[in-house]
Amino acid sequence: MNQVGNLLLLPGDGIGPEVMGEVERVIGWLGDRQGMKFECERDLVGGSALDAHGLPLAESTLGLAKAADAVVFGAVGGPQYDANPFHLKPEQGLLQLRKELDLFANLRPAMVFPALAEASSLKKELVEGLDILILRELTGGVYFGEPRGIETLPDGTKRAVDTQVYTTPEIRRIAAVGFELAKKRRNHVTSVEKANVMHTGVLWREEVTKLHAEAFQDVELAHMYADNCAMQLVRRPKQFDVIVTDNLFGDLLSDAAAMLTGSLGMLPSASLGAPDQAGRRKALYEPVHGSAPDIAGQGKANPLAMLLSFAMTLRYSFDLGLEADRLEKAIASVLDQGYRTPDIMQPGMREVSTTAMGQAVLDILDASLG
Ligand code: NAD
Repeated sequence: MNQVGNLLLLPGDGIGPEVMGEVERVIGWLGDRQGMKFECERDLVGGSALDAHGLPLAESTLGLAKAADAVVFGAVGGPQYDANPFHLKPEQGLLQLRKELDLFANLRPAMVFPALAEASSLKKELVEGLDILILRELTGGVYFGEPRGIETLPDGTKRAVDTQVYTTPEIRRIAAVGFELAKKRRNHVTSVEKANVMHTGVLWREEVTKLHAEAFQDVELAHMYADNCAMQLVRRPKQFDVIVTDNLFGDLLSDAAAMLTGSLGMLPSASLGAPDQAGRRKALYEPVHGSAPDIAGQGKANPLAMLLSFAMTLRYSFDLGLEADRLEKAIASVLDQGYRTPDIMQPGMREVSTTAMGQAVLDILDASLG
């Protein structure tokens, strides 16, 4: 048995544990059928941690997260916590993990499986087979820059300030992630800013260009203004491979790209930190969707975003590209065969539960071994 590494599984609340259950079955399958063993710890986060310890993230859980090769996260939240003070909201568990692990690189792939191309708001031929990755800088820029705030002026009107700020190291570290990711994909990076009107954009473009010349000449690099990128995403999205951009533009562009796929239950994500001395990055993988209290406990949750997040875990934390491909292909196949959870149900297809969808993926994984 090949020891691959250790994982911290944090299922969270609502449908989190339901979709995580399907990841655990795939982990079991990798051990049984592929001889790949993951050491797994399971712990509480969000509302379930609040119920057990009075905190959304216990110190011991944070310790496990720091020690793990990767954290696989379900979803947190629920209406019973709506009245909690800010620091006792379930979402704080996730925000603390991102901060404590210094996860500065947010990866949001937008993939359109052929069988679901009809669900997009764009024409089928524009999005069919789409596979792009938006890489957003997550810990700097205008959401954190100082000075920030609202002041009242002598005449009684108010003045609000936010500061967009980026430094050379911040730009270089996110750009490096972009180039490295592109090498595992189609080898093309589009760096996005507004160098025409913003100083941060000028520095962003200079630093990305410099880093490219120094260390990543084998990757193709293009620059694009953020407004044009927004337009190109809905005009001809398949022109992109990896888009690397700042916190604010990444927030907007990743949501726009997500909608190209048409379904919340299908969107994975990852957040990565800086590499350690062995070259391993701290990492957290999670579906984009929340805890979906409206369908929790009913077997209706779509587990595919969670499973796609696990495919990203295999690819980016363990360099298991072949296994990640195998899992993604199995997901494409179950969709081709007509399996649908209620959120992606289409006429003439077969409506299945969370576990039946997971089982269909496992059956195809089995069949792929011949
Ligand atoms: P949500 O993503 O939980 O749900 C939005 C809608 O999409 C709901 O109708 C839900 O049933 C559906 N949906 C979501 N995921 C699905 C899946 N896998 N399969 C089928 N249908 C799915 O967003 P919301 O309703 O705005 O928030 C619910 C709770 O989740 C709130 O407490 C919110 O704060 C929290 N939340 C957590 C995260 C996170 O943990 N990262 C992200 C977003 C929201």
